[in-house]
Amino acid sequence: MAEVNPSFQTAIIKTAIIRSHLMKVSRLSGLVCVFFLSLSSWAATTPTVTIFVDASSAPRKIFHATLKIPASPGDLILYYPKWIPGEHAPDGPVIDLAGLKFSAGGKTLKWRRDLLDGFTIHVEVPAGESEITAELDFLSPATFEGGFSAGSSATDKLAIISWNQVLLYPKGFKSDDINYTASLKLPEGWKFGTPLPISKQSGNEIHFTTVSLTTLVDSPVITGEFLKVVPLAQDPLTEMDIAADSAAALDAPQEVWDHYKNLVEQANKLFGAHHYRDYHFLYSMSDHVAHFGLEHHESDDSRVDERGLVDETARKAEASLLPHEYVHSWNGKFRRPADLATPDYQQPMQDDLLWVYEGLTNYLGEVLTARSGLLTAPQLRDDLALTAAALDHTPGREWRNLQDTADSAPELYFSPRAWHSWRRSTDFYSEDTLNWLWADVIIRQQSKGAKTLDDFCKLFHGAPSTGPMVKPYTFDDVVSALNQIAPYDWRGFWTERLTNHGPGAPLGGIEGSGWRVVYDETPSEMERGAEGAFHFIDVGYSIGLDLNDDGTITDTIEGMIAAKAGIGPGMKLVGVNGRKFSTDVLHDALKTGKHTSEPLELLVENTDYYKTYKLDYHGGEKYPHLVRDESKPDLLTDILKAK
Ligand SMILES: [Zn+2]
Repeated sequence: MAEVNPSFQTAIIKTAIIRSHLMKVSRLSGLVCVFFLSLSSWAATTPTVTIFVDASSAPRKIFHATLKIPASPGDLILYYPKWIPGEHAPDGPVIDLAGLKFSAGGKTLKWRRDLLDGFTIHVEVPAGESEITAELDFLSPATFEGGFSAGSSATDKLAIISWNQVLLYPKGFKSDDINYTASLKLPEGWKFGTPLPISKQSGNEIHFTTVSLTTLVDSPVITGEFLKVVPLAQDPLTEMDIAADSAAALDAPQEVWDHYKNLVEQANKLFGAHHYRDYHFLYSMSDHVAHFGLEHHESDDSRVDERGLVDETARKAEASLLPHEYVHSWNGKFRRPADLATPDYQQPMQDDLLWVYEGLTNYLGEVLTARSGLLTAPQLRDDLALTAAALDHTPGREWRNLQDTADSAPELYFSPRAWHSWRRSTDFYSEDTLNWLWADVIIRQQSKGAKTLDDFCKLFHGAPSTGPMVKPYTFDDVVSALNQIAPYDWRGFWTERLTNHGPGAPLGGIEGSGWRVVYDETPSEMERGAEGAFHFIDVGYSIGLDLNDDGTITDTIEGMIAAKAGIGPGMKLVGVNGRKFSTDVLHDALKTGKHTSEPLELLVENTDYYKTYKLDYHGGEKYPHLVRDESKPDLLTDILKAK
C-alpha cells in the first residue's frame, strides 16, 4: 500500500510514492435482479456462494448486494472481512454495512451480531434449509473521506468496487477453499476494467468466472463513463485501465505511456519472472476519491488527483506510485511475510516484517521509477535527499525504533498528522528505502561489483513464472537469501537497522553509493513541485515548522527553534514580522533574517487567542540535496540506470 497525501512530512513517511517531499499522501441501491447458478452442496465439496452486486446507483454512493450462501440448519456464522490485505490493519468498513436481511424458503431469518466481534453475524437457519439469501447495502462515503479502500470511492463519473466491502463469508473455510460466482450491474454506458476473468457480458451486466474468495477480494473493478485502456505489454497481457472524472484528464502525452511500458519491461528484467496471468493497472483520476495505492496480485487500485496524468508537476510528484504497487505483485503478494499470510480476513495480521514487505517495495519502486524514465536520476536523487532529510528531522526516532513502527502499523496508518515528528509514523517505508539502498551498496562492495540487489530479487522473487500464489517467508529466509548473494553479517546489519535510535537518519547507503546530503537555500525541482501540488510550505529544516500554505501548522519538530519557542501543531501562522502571513512573506523573512540580529516574529493563532513568538533564528532557508562525493565510486547512478 502507499498513501498519497498532501503534506510534506507525511509523504516521507508514507510510502512509496510520493516520497519525500511530497508529503502529500472509500459505496447503491436499485433494482435487484439476481441470477443464481447451481450451488454446490454445503458439506460435500468446495462450497460456492453466488453474489450479485448492483452498482447502477454508484453516483449516489450506495451499492446493493444479494448473496446465496450454502447453509445447514442451526447457528450459521458469517463474517464481514475485517483485516484487508495490503492495508495491514483491521479496517474493513463494517460501519458502512447496512440493509442487512436474511431469508430462506421465503421466510425472514433472525440474526444477531456477535458480542465479542462486530464483524461476526449469527443467523438462525431453520430445519430443512440448505441455503440462505443475504441482502445488504454498502454505504460508500457520501462526503469526502480520505483513507484507503474504505475512503471515498465513487463520483458522478467513476467508481472502484472492492468486493470485500459487499460480501459476507461463512465461518469454517480458508478464503482459498470457498468459491464465489459474481455478477455485477454497472451504470448505463459505463466501461470497466478488472483482472477478474469474465464469463459473459450483456449490456451493463457482467458475469464473472467462478473463483476463490481470495481471488475475488484480490480483483477489484474500476468503472466509469470516461475510461481509457492503454496496452503496455502483450505476453503476458499488461494494461492500464484508467477512469477519470473527465475525458480531458486521460489525454496525457505519449511519453507518459512510453514510460509505463518501460516500467513493465524494467520490472520483468529486475525480477526475471512474474507471478500473474495478466496485470491491470487500475488508475483513478479524481479530486473526489481517497488518494492512495493498494496492491493486488494481478492489479493495483491507485488513485490520484484528476489531473495527475496530464499535469507535469502532479505527474512527477506521484511518479513512484504505480511502480511501488506493481513491485508488490512480486514483493508482498507472491513473497509475503508468513505472519501476513493469514487464511482468511478475520485472523489478525502481524506486521513485524513490513520493513521487507513495504520497505523493500518502496526502494525498488523508486529504483524502477528512475529506470523507466518516470523520473530522471537527478529528480530521484532529489527525492532521496528529501527522504533522508525528513528522517534526519524525526526526533521520535529517539524513543521509537524502526521495528516498532512496523509492529504498530495497524495503529500508525491512522495516526493524525499532528505530532508526527515525535510520535513517528509508518516510517518503514521511508527509512527502509535508505536501508535497502544501504544493503544494495553492501552487496556491491562485498562482491566487488559482481552482484547487486537485483540478483537478490531474482533469487527471492523470480523464476519460475507462475500465476498468483503465496510463498511465505521469515526473517531467517531474508537473511539466508542475502547471504546466498553476498556473504555478510546480514542478521547483525538488519538487527541494528531495526533497533537503533540514531542519532540521525541511516545514511550509510547514500554515502556508500558516492553521494552526500547537503542543505542550501534553493529548493530542488521535486520539492518546489511538491509544495505547489500539495499546498504546503517546507520550513522544517530551517525553523522546524511543517505547515500548509494557508498557515495551518500541521506539525512542529521537537527540539527545533519553533517548538522550543512554544509553537505547536494545530496552531495557525497569521503574521510574520508584523505583516499578514503569506508563503512569500515567510520565505522573504527567512532570507532577510540572515542579515539582521532582529528575531523572527511569528504571530500565531491558538484556540481563539493570538500570541507573538520571537525566534532568534538567522540561518536562512534550508533545503536538502544530494551532491557527489568524488572520493567514492558512484554506485547510485548505476543503480538508477535502465537495464
Ligand atoms: Zn506498499
